[in-house]
Amino acid sequence: MPLRPVRSALAGSAALATSVACLALAPAPALGAGTTSSRATASTVSVKLDRATAKIGTKVVLRGSVKGASKAKRKVSLQTRDAKGRWRTLESRRTKADGSFAFPTPTWNRTHPLRVRAAAAGKVKVGTSKVVKLKRTIPATTGGSAKAWTPLFDGMVARWNPCAPITVRADKTNAPSWFVKELKSVLAENSLYTGLTFDFEGTGARKDSDIYVQWRTAKKIPSLAGDTSGVTRTGVTRQGELVTARISLDLADYFYGRTFWRSVMRHELAHAVGLDHVKDSKQRMYAYTIVDAPNAKRWSKTWGAGDVAGLKRVGATYGCIG
Ligand SMILES: [Zn+2]
Repeated sequence: MPLRPVRSALAGSAALATSVACLALAPAPALGAGTTSSRATASTVSVKLDRATAKIGTKVVLRGSVKGASKAKRKVSLQTRDAKGRWRTLESRRTKADGSFAFPTPTWNRTHPLRVRAAAAGKVKVGTSKVVKLKRTIPATTGGSAKAWTPLFDGMVARWNPCAPITVRADKTNAPSWFVKELKSVLAENSLYTGLTFDFEGTGARKDSDIYVQWRTAKKIPSLAGDTSGVTRTGVTRQGELVTARISLDLADYFYGRTFWRSVMRHELAHAVGLDHVKDSKQRMYAYTIVDAPNAKRWSKTWGAGDVAGLKRVGATYGCIG
């Protein structure tokens, strides 16, 4: 069985030379004032999760209520804390007449610290709930070490800003019929491991989408020559923010079929969000895919422990950029 290398090429850029700690983000003051200080204007916010542990992608609701004056139609915000301790609002809603509210929770791979903050209303001050934690769990991996992952650029963890959607466009020219459906599925799966949000903008020629996926030959994309089935080129700022990625899939390998290509697209998208190759063959970021049915099937839906850790590190856990 032939080995199909799946390599990445990095965009030549001055950013490669700037290996200073680009991710050091200035600490921001915590939002919210904790519990209110005056009895006359106090409002308490209680929260409870449906479940404290759940698989990625499954629905868990956080419910609660605001008590005291101005409990009806009060603006309440679901907030999460990033790994640097900063609180950020995920979504805001209004309470019902009885002060109750409900929020859907983040579905991706992390233990999410969550709280609800009730905005000030007239004389009633801001109220903030206690923090509850929702642990998301993942399906079994193919193992290996959780340390078996490598960032794309030496000396820094480059990543996308997870607090804005990443736009994606697919070029269907010469593509197999299942291409867009599988790409969307692979994007959705990546979101569950990174916390990144992808906004699929449609098909057609390249416009200004952040990520562009195309089928080409080695004649057009020379780095697809030889055994390479896919190649991803990324653009990064000096501050370590990924801003573009172009994924090229090799038309000459078209005949390998849907399962194989799903496996390659998962690998290439992981490059696009900031992971490089590893030497551990238990990881999906290993550079080669063996083109036989069991392997292609396994790599079309599983990650290694290092892949999972790397996807988490380049994702939303560390909060917004900028
Ligand atoms: Zn690769």
